[in-house]
Amino acid sequence: MKIRILGSGGGEGFPAPFCSCEHCETARKMGGKSLRSLSQSIINDDLLIDFPADTNAHCLRFGVNLGQLQNVLITHSHRDHYVPQLLSDRGGFAAHNLKYQDVYFYGPANLERICDAVNIPEPIREHIQFVALAPQKTVSIGEYAVTPLKALHSPELGSLNYIIEQGDKRILYLVDSGYPTEEMLTYLQSLGKIFDLVVMDGTFGYAPAKTYIYHMGYEENKLLKTELQQLGIADARTRFVVTHITHNKSEYHEKVEEIFAGTGIEVAYDGIEIEI
Ligand SMILES: [Zn+2]
Ligand SMILES: [Zn+2]
Ligand SMILES: [Zn+2]
Repeated sequence: MKIRILGSGGGEGFPAPFCSCEHCETARKMGGKSLRSLSQSIINDDLLIDFPADTNAHCLRFGVNLGQLQNVLITHSHRDHYVPQLLSDRGGFAAHNLKYQDVYFYGPANLERICDAVNIPEPIREHIQFVALAPQKTVSIGEYAVTPLKALHSPELGSLNYIIEQGDKRILYLVDSGYPTEEMLTYLQSLGKIFDLVVMDGTFGYAPAKTYIYHMGYEENKLLKTELQQLGIADARTRFVVTHITHNKSEYHEKVEEIFAGTGIEVAYDGIEIEI
């Protein structure tokens, strides 16, 4: 099982398009791994996670063909994760030879209403299907067993984190998320499974732990790794990757790597591939 993080930036990207802060200016000069687009990942080559405005750019840069995809998993409806306007190009003059007549969007219950507010042409809209997911109710999506978890992140949107399993491999995808609640940790422990990979929200960067409950910072990422290992949800083989990195509390890529040096936590960049 393989995941590619297509976009490793936070809500506004890094550098943020309108921003001239010191961190953005440095990132523009550094280029490379310090340029972070909006949050999106793909599992193997057939399960997309999130659908931000940078989706088109990710397709160009990383060779993703949305016309070959049947399933999209959405974490929540913040604009850096879900922009249904892009679906207007799934048909008509814009899309030929679709592999699947219908595309399925899985996620919180509000996705369909938000899509309908953007007036996708009807011949295209009728081939976009929505499946509302409920926390802790596992569904089959293609070859994957997907278990949604109630995210500690903008609960008014019904935000979800996910367990994604293929065979005996499993990923815990915590983007966007605050530090997991006791309830989530107890549930994860009750499953009696060890994760191969944990992808974590690092939005609050070097801010002290507990600065904000709806996102994590780097101290919380380190604490979480330790706690998951203590609870038997992760072990020494589990890989940990931090993503959703922003200009407000992070500098350029190598500086973030310095913060995590020796912790065993990897710092995502756009295009990173993790095979488990
Ligand atoms: Zn986000
Ligand atoms: Zn900035
Ligand atoms: Zn969010």
